[in-house]
Amino acid sequence: MKKIFNLETKNLVGQKVELYGFIAEIRDHGKLIFFDLKDRSGILQCMISQENKFFPLAKEIKPYSVVKIIGQVQPRPAHLVNPKIETGKIEVSIEELSILSSAKTLPFEVETDGYEIDEALRMKYRYLDLRRPRLFKNLRRRHEFLLFIRNFLDAKGFIEIETPILTKSTPEGARDYLVPSRIYPGKFYALPQSPQQYKQLLMVAGVERYFQIARCFRDEDPRGDRQPEFTQIDLEMSYVERDDVLNLVEEMFIELVRELYPEKKITYVPFPRISYEEALNLYGSDKPDLRKNPNDPNELAFVFIVDFPMFEWNEKENKWDPMHHPFTQPKLADGSRDKNEILNVLSKSPEILLSEQYDLVLNGYEVGGGSLRTTDSDILIKIFEVLGYNREEIEEKFFHLLEAFSYGVPPHGGIAPGVDRILMILENEPNIREVIAFPKTGEGRDYMMGAPSKVSSNQLKELKLKVEIKENEING
Ligand code: ASP
Repeated sequence: MKKIFNLETKNLVGQKVELYGFIAEIRDHGKLIFFDLKDRSGILQCMISQENKFFPLAKEIKPYSVVKIIGQVQPRPAHLVNPKIETGKIEVSIEELSILSSAKTLPFEVETDGYEIDEALRMKYRYLDLRRPRLFKNLRRRHEFLLFIRNFLDAKGFIEIETPILTKSTPEGARDYLVPSRIYPGKFYALPQSPQQYKQLLMVAGVERYFQIARCFRDEDPRGDRQPEFTQIDLEMSYVERDDVLNLVEEMFIELVRELYPEKKITYVPFPRISYEEALNLYGSDKPDLRKNPNDPNELAFVFIVDFPMFEWNEKENKWDPMHHPFTQPKLADGSRDKNEILNVLSKSPEILLSEQYDLVLNGYEVGGGSLRTTDSDILIKIFEVLGYNREEIEEKFFHLLEAFSYGVPPHGGIAPGVDRILMILENEPNIREVIAFPKTGEGRDYMMGAPSKVSSNQLKELKLKVEIKENEING
């Protein structure tokens, strides 16, 4: 006999089966006990009567213990059929029972949708929270989503390439997470804010079509719907113009919705392409919600916002920031990318420059951003200067990229739609934590593992690091 899933018993009436799972519910009728056996496929009713030699053991079982059951699949009497569960027409009469692992009382109910439970508690016991059918469904849907994306991009000639997690700081507008080097004391790796420079270097390598389901790390101030690490469908293409990238992304999401979310309707096909200026004028936002009926959970209003300004003024620090990132191709208001004119404007009035940045917006959320890139080193150096880097810093931080470009660089561009937000919307979830297996809380903590945490003085010593914290700086 081989292990079978609960749901498979539906078609095995009259047969002997071997089952494994949790005892999700116990209904003790004295001489007869009913169990709801739960495995990843669903719930199955099993029963044992007092004549069975395993009956005393069955009396002892605590909810959520892990068991092995051997029994006969039999039809339920008509009046006991349960239309609410998929196996509702049958049950298993237990012949043999063993407890593989006994469970103590769970800290919360795991068969409900769970929204009613304190989130910190759910996170502390996330491995139990994930027993919840809603969350297991979300894990499975995330898997199907990523599998679809991988197959789609593979069919389009992309190859998935992993890039380093231990790397060097790349400016994407956030603070870096730093990792001290033991071998080179006083030096640090940075966790990538995105694989931006690597994917551009892969274009220099001649890869032409790269993608990666990439983890990105940004040390930003905690906000409810932000995670210190998140996942992007990061892609880059050579020899393309803006619409090649946008058309690909559009086709990818139209097909994905058709295949995985047939109940959902995309409001506008093709996705509208609206300039940044027009979006602000018409909707007062660069991430407008263009749904016709925002109360409809099955409506998906995708829109591309294009022609962003190249820079935005940072009041606090009194300097220019890139609207996207410094590697974006600037252009003039009339769309021209004339090098001399761009260099001229960069020196005199950077505020009037537009760029080849584009964002993907869905139901009022920014769910992805990308751009065509600057491959001209003179322009790139000038952009770094506008951003306030001096020659030395440019050399130190970006030499590898400038050097790479000097060996022949195909024109290229890309985008990085965010997996967590898109799935949150597709699954009608209120926040991204519901579609991530082990998220941090809104305050950036992992209550289950207890991270972030102190490390031993030995670990610090090895790294030649000293921690200096004042009383009033201790946070939790
Ligand atoms: N690296 C960019 C980001 O994370 C995406 C891109 O420009 O392709 O937003």
